[in-house]
Amino acid sequence: MSTTLLSDRINNLAASATLAMAAKARELRAEGKDIIGLSLGEPDFNTPDYIKDAAIQAVNDNYNSYTPVDGYPELKKAIITKFKRDNGLTYDPSQIVVSTGAKQALYNIAQVCLNPGDEVILPCPYWVSYSDIVQLAEGVPVEVATSIHNDFKMTAEQLEAAITPKTKMIWYSSPCNPSGSIYSKKELRALADVLKKHPNIIVVSDEIYEHINYVGDHASMAQFEDMFDRTVTVNGVAKAFAMTGWRIGYIGAPTYIARACNKIQGQVTSGANCIAQRAVITALESPVSKIQYMVDEFKNRRTLILQLLADIPGFECNEPEGAFYVFPNISSFFGKTIEGKLINTASDFSMLLLEKANVATVTGDAFGNGDCIRISYAASTDQIKEAVLRIKNVVA
Ligand code: PMP
Ligand code: GLU
Repeated sequence: MSTTLLSDRINNLAASATLAMAAKARELRAEGKDIIGLSLGEPDFNTPDYIKDAAIQAVNDNYNSYTPVDGYPELKKAIITKFKRDNGLTYDPSQIVVSTGAKQALYNIAQVCLNPGDEVILPCPYWVSYSDIVQLAEGVPVEVATSIHNDFKMTAEQLEAAITPKTKMIWYSSPCNPSGSIYSKKELRALADVLKKHPNIIVVSDEIYEHINYVGDHASMAQFEDMFDRTVTVNGVAKAFAMTGWRIGYIGAPTYIARACNKIQGQVTSGANCIAQRAVITALESPVSKIQYMVDEFKNRRTLILQLLADIPGFECNEPEGAFYVFPNISSFFGKTIEGKLINTASDFSMLLLEKANVATVTGDAFGNGDCIRISYAASTDQIKEAVLRIKNVVA
């Protein structure tokens, strides 16, 4: 069937590069290739037993009906308690919406806040789907380049310079996917000071990697009194609780935005999965210390991969402070021919690694930075060692 029968909307939409690379790796594996998948940001742990048990209990307790569109009241209560406990944020139930993953939460926000032509500032590198979710809502992504030497963070001056009369929102993740950078409270305050002069700009603070933090404090934009009423705090359980497939994310937002997200979900999904919601009540109500073993393991792997990559000439890494990615600058390979392939872009380099090293990574282009590639270290230490060895051999 011809794609001309499809909408311009879908024909103009880029496929998710992370999911596309994961699918490609799966395909090659099915053909018998020994691919090490470091493309997808997905914990390699099982969902903890105490959360699985809650889901089994929910099945047996016959939680099988439609849930309230914006989430079970008990789950909203658990989210409110979590926001208070971990972030010092006070939300009312009318400000909470539970969605089918943080991804849908972000999609909702774009759909309810953006009119055609509204600009959304995206500090680069940004998470792969931001730009396309914004464009699906006919918004205009405005990319702000950052440098590895500034830990890939946007400065107040850069934010100020990017703002125009059409700026509607700014979206960022901290800890950042893909750079692993974390905005400190002071850095967020500097950005908030710029926004003081622009009261109609909404901030979307994606905090899904909040607990995967190796430096200590997690700061939220909504913690500033003057920012609370104009910030949407996005979070979810996929990463910290090893629950990617359960598909639960949530927001704390100004009431008018939460209501609008509820309205759109009412027409699109009728709400998130009932069993997963029950399990997430247990996940959020349990002490965070219960998931620390995964964070500790990610931290060990970060140390390992940074040590191993430091041994490959041409790879320049910053030290990620959170999440489970490294985002090395590999532009020193541009213009070189490696194993018969001319490398001109990060995408060429990522394909080289897939084809010649059997290692799946993601090109930095997908994150708005064409000099880097993203490597996920949410994999076993053996896989990490073997993958980096293969990469080293190919580029040697
Ligand atoms: N935001 C960021 C920064 C992410 O890395 C991801 C990855 N999945 C998401 C949002 C979406 O999360 P979810 O799986 O809950 O949809
Ligand atoms: N967030 C993960 C990643 O960046 C999962 C893939 C996705 O949702 O696109 O790899």
